[in-house]
Amino acid sequence: MATTLSINPYTDEELQSYKNHTKKEVSEIIDKADKRFYNWRETSFSERKKLMLAAASELKKNKQEYAKTMTLEMGKPITQAIAEVEKCAWVCEYYAENAEKHLENERVKTDAHKSYVSYEPLGVVLAIMPWNYPFWQVFRFAAPALMAGNIGILKHASNVFGSALNIEKVFKRAGFPENCFTTLLVGSDAVEEIIENEKVKAVTLTGSGPAGSSVASIAGKNIKKSVLELGGNNALVIMKDCEMDKTIETCVQARFQNTGQSCIAGKRLIIDASISEEFVEKMLVKVRELKSGDPMDEETYVGTMARADLAKDLEKQVNDSIKAGAKLEIGGKRQGAYFEPTILTNVNEGMSVFKEETFGPVLSVTTFKTVEEAVALSNNSKFGLGVSIFTKNIEEAEKLAFQFDEGAVFINELVKSDPRLPFGGIKQSGYGRELSDDGIKEFVNRKTVYIN
Ligand code: NAP
Repeated sequence: MATTLSINPYTDEELQSYKNHTKKEVSEIIDKADKRFYNWRETSFSERKKLMLAAASELKKNKQEYAKTMTLEMGKPITQAIAEVEKCAWVCEYYAENAEKHLENERVKTDAHKSYVSYEPLGVVLAIMPWNYPFWQVFRFAAPALMAGNIGILKHASNVFGSALNIEKVFKRAGFPENCFTTLLVGSDAVEEIIENEKVKAVTLTGSGPAGSSVASIAGKNIKKSVLELGGNNALVIMKDCEMDKTIETCVQARFQNTGQSCIAGKRLIIDASISEEFVEKMLVKVRELKSGDPMDEETYVGTMARADLAKDLEKQVNDSIKAGAKLEIGGKRQGAYFEPTILTNVNEGMSVFKEETFGPVLSVTTFKTVEEAVALSNNSKFGLGVSIFTKNIEEAEKLAFQFDEGAVFINELVKSDPRLPFGGIKQSGYGRELSDDGIKEFVNRKTVYIN
């Protein structure tokens, strides 16, 4: 019988051992989910809204409990875990209030007496999710999916099965009917068979490129819709006229919150050479002030990374870049799963920390002399999730936005997700959108109805 161990990355202690679902159990869960679909899709928006608002209340009521599990499982500082649970309540409330409006029939004037598009649920949707925001990644899928009348089954990352079960608990406690949302305790080797199951109608994955490519191939072979939210290597583009102190504060948050483990983190600082020295000096002061330590301590801002092997990969990227000529300004050391907040300057486009995604607290700094160079540096990435531009000249920055090959351009702000705005990437960052009106329409049948 396969089991999955959950380890606290801060203490290295075993938290829990989970018995994986067998193939038979998985198949039974999918059968039940599919059966539930046929009456869930008949429920009214007001019924779903009531339940989704109850889920939001449950999240707020028991945020400490849910946050604690996340922190123990993947090292996220507790205050950031609590904020994550609160954000999940927000997305539940957003879709509770807006789903009906997003999905109302759209009348289209044609030769017909009446013609319109109706948005109907697809059925059981598989969500494959990562550990970095164990609640948020799941809720931004689940809230719109359930409100649209779909059913969710979750294959969460193997190091956060406790959080996965907690999410199932949230929907249960909120009063959702059985099997509207179920967690599958399985490894990634079980995914192919799940996607192939004819009762599973679509799949969404948030995670790495290789996982996305594999899942999309299987979905494609089975002619099933997929949405991919993959990696990112966002740039923070700093123009010489930026408001320096405020920009530094935002950039420190953009890179070091969630211990740097965010797809949309600002990983590459691309800065006008004329202000680079002063900017980095001031930034170092701020980075020194970041408190590392026990993730359960409310004062901690930088926790441990989620697993020691991930910290080792990061260490290699940093060391390789230093060998290639990058200058270590601060940090660079690893202890188990903990990695010091790190800044590297003199970084060029050939170095690992520029070319590859660094999924931890490491910021690379590269300078430019012209705006054209800045755009080219930012676009020199296989990813296209988002970019932040910092300048006082908003008009110019807005004109420039068009030139960035990204899913999002934020001016004088870090790239962040907001239920009201579409979220997603281009290039190797994936396809499809989550959140907003776009997100809820990813897993629906856009049915044309024509009446003569
Ligand atoms: P990962 O290894 O791809 O894991 C993500 C999920 O996919 C886990 O549930 C994992 O299960 C599963 N998985 C892995 N390989 C698979 C395969 N071949 N077939 C099917 N499922 C598979 O990613 P990670 O290292 O946990 O997360 C970090 C990556 O996610 C980064 O690249 C980050 O940028 C990206 N990310 C993107 C977004 C976004 O919104 N664009 C948000 C957060 C993270 P197991 O745990 O069982 O292996």
